[in-house]
Amino acid sequence: MAGFNHLFIPGPTNIPEQVRQAMNVPMEDMRAPSFPKFTLPLFEDIRKVFRNVTGRVFIYPSSGTGAWEAAMENVLSPGDRVLMSRFGQFSHLWVDMAERFGLHVDLIDCEWGTGVPVEIYAERLHADHGHRIKAVFATHNETATGVTSDIAGVRAALDAAKHPALLFVDGVSSIGSIDFRQEEWGVDCAVSGSQKGFMLPAGLGFLSVSGKALEASKQAQHHRCFFSFEDMIKANDTGYFPYTPATQLLRGLRVSLDLIAEEGLEAIFARHHRMAEGVRKAVDAWELRLCAKEPKWHSDTVSAIVVPDGIDSAEVVRTAYGKYQTSLGVGLSKVAGKVFRIGHLGWLNEVMVCGALAAAEMALIDCGVKIRPGAGVGAAVEYFRQTGSMAVAKAA
Ligand SMILES: *Cc1c(COP(=O)(O)O)cnc(C)c1O
Repeated sequence: MAGFNHLFIPGPTNIPEQVRQAMNVPMEDMRAPSFPKFTLPLFEDIRKVFRNVTGRVFIYPSSGTGAWEAAMENVLSPGDRVLMSRFGQFSHLWVDMAERFGLHVDLIDCEWGTGVPVEIYAERLHADHGHRIKAVFATHNETATGVTSDIAGVRAALDAAKHPALLFVDGVSSIGSIDFRQEEWGVDCAVSGSQKGFMLPAGLGFLSVSGKALEASKQAQHHRCFFSFEDMIKANDTGYFPYTPATQLLRGLRVSLDLIAEEGLEAIFARHHRMAEGVRKAVDAWELRLCAKEPKWHSDTVSAIVVPDGIDSAEVVRTAYGKYQTSLGVGLSKVAGKVFRIGHLGWLNEVMVCGALAAAEMALIDCGVKIRPGAGVGAAVEYFRQTGSMAVAKAA
């Protein structure tokens, strides 16, 4: 078929042309004397995206899930008590992993469409006089439901209870796209991956850790090899890796970090908010609702949109793909068939979002949803038109 295939799933995301070209290079020698000159600044610069001032970032040749494993096996021990909450497929998978690692999970199940229950966390931490809870887990952005949680609030709950537990955050679909401040929020392990806000292919797992997490890892008892902090630190400190690094992805990362620095994190967060607002205007105009129950949960990187009763959201996704060459996200697990998702993170702009909305709108109408053609796209167009500036043109 002619023209682009359009990718609006919440990861992998669209890759800037400069990043793609930067990866089209011959294989290089990862033990070359000049290699550290390339890698050492990379370790420095990726820290800035996490806003990690005093800790360090591990870069694993894995997806984000590998960075989750790295966090658990290096910092915790089997039998450790951890406080977790579940309100979507990704927070569910994290709980599942914790159980497989033999952690003792205090689990709070929440309605899908809500997020981390900060008040309940505060109560549990307050009641834990013996400080048996070793770590508190929070999924910053639940990609299955389009829900963003209040990580600063979790930190405030820990501080109010004067509780020493470590704070683990899944930021795979938020870091680099939605405000995240590791140092300020006292996050000990922040996990991300290359294929979302970092605008790269899948293949790199990022784990940004605090000094406190590094200290804890020295006491923790767990088998570790591939993800070992100790092995990584020894090699990384000299600019190398304990095994073959994914050098082409690292070359791409160099450019994506440069692009992030050039645009600036605040501008990136503002852009994501604007793109998300455009999507939300369309959802309102379609007279549909988001899976996220309240505005405070609205995600600026992914919108999960509930289809009316009697409509199959998987059919909407199939139609968008088959008829309009556009990939939207399906509903996962509990919300399969009930929601479809528009990923609006990474390298994208207003016209791309309008394209996603046009495809979604056509597919919705095709599947029998009563929508006046142009209603949702029109609402987004008006929002973008009225709130836009010439800043982009000036920068280019
Ligand atoms: C994508 C995603 C993951 C899984 O990351 P992989 O790179 O697919 O392993 C975990 N958590 C969240 C919130 C995600 O969006």
